Amino acid sequence: MKVLILGGTAEARALAAALADRREFSVTLSLAGRTKDPAKQPVPVRRGGFGGAEGLARHLRDEQIDILIDATHPYAAAISANAAEAARIAEVKLLALRRPAWTKRPGDRWIEVDTVAGAVRAIGSAPRRVFLALGRKELQPFAASPQHFYLIRSVDPVNPPLAVPQAEYIVARGPFSEGEDRALLEKHRIEIVVAKNSGGAATYGKIAAARALSIPVVMLKRPVLPEVPSVATVEAAVGWLDHALTLSVARGV
Ligand code: NAP
Repeated sequence: MKVLILGGTAEARALAAALADRREFSVTLSLAGRTKDPAKQPVPVRRGGFGGAEGLARHLRDEQIDILIDATHPYAAAISANAAEAARIAEVKLLALRRPAWTKRPGDRWIEVDTVAGAVRAIGSAPRRVFLALGRKELQPFAASPQHFYLIRSVDPVNPPLAVPQAEYIVARGPFSEGEDRALLEKHRIEIVVAKNSGGAATYGKIAAARALSIPVVMLKRPVLPEVPSVATVEAAVGWLDHALTLSVARGV
């Protein structure tokens, strides 16, 4: 079976690794191509957008893909919508691999907001020391509040930098442990964290560290994603694929 995994996440890579030695599956991983030096992948990779849902549907047909796996990040809403639409157009089976969101624990001081603009408002007008754990493309609205100090961590350098007088940049790729992130928050005397509810362990360190230090977290709510068959773990995705394979063999496809 030809499987196309839409990736850009640790789960997509782990699923590709789990399938790489399975001769029943021929797997390709698709990356948007944003990261300059992406992590090595265990299967062949294609890079760049498809040109919307129609472009993806065309790709699925041209490449005779049997199964599309949407293992993109929970905040990558456009590609997930395209995947649902393209699978419908091309009549290809679709499975979403979606990590569950983090839930609030005792001691967490979360301020949940719907938009990045809402996050900017939630920080308030008095100058504060802010850790921005967001992607490069979500940073711009913070330029409207130049009174704060911003600590910004991203995989690739933020270029051009945010137009504010006080900002410090860290270029780093997760996972980040609670201990590491606690040391970071303490070193920079951070008073508030802005984060996405990404789920998973790799970026949970800052959330746990903020709880331990009693620092509030402005949490950007998840976007609404299309309702499609989905699983929460790589193991469940492999099980789903095995089942799909059994069905297609039984049907003599
Ligand atoms: P997005 O807004 O949902 O997608 C924008 C466009 O990028 C899509 O319409 C598509 O272009 C292209 N694209 C996205 N993912 C792709 C993939 N895996 N393969 C080929 N094309 C893809 O996505 P985003 O939020 O910018 O995220 C881009 C990538 O970074 C995704 O792969 C995502 O998994 C990863 N990522 C995102 C976040 C986040 O917070 N958003 C965090 C970590 C990793 P066309 O319409 O031309 O096909």
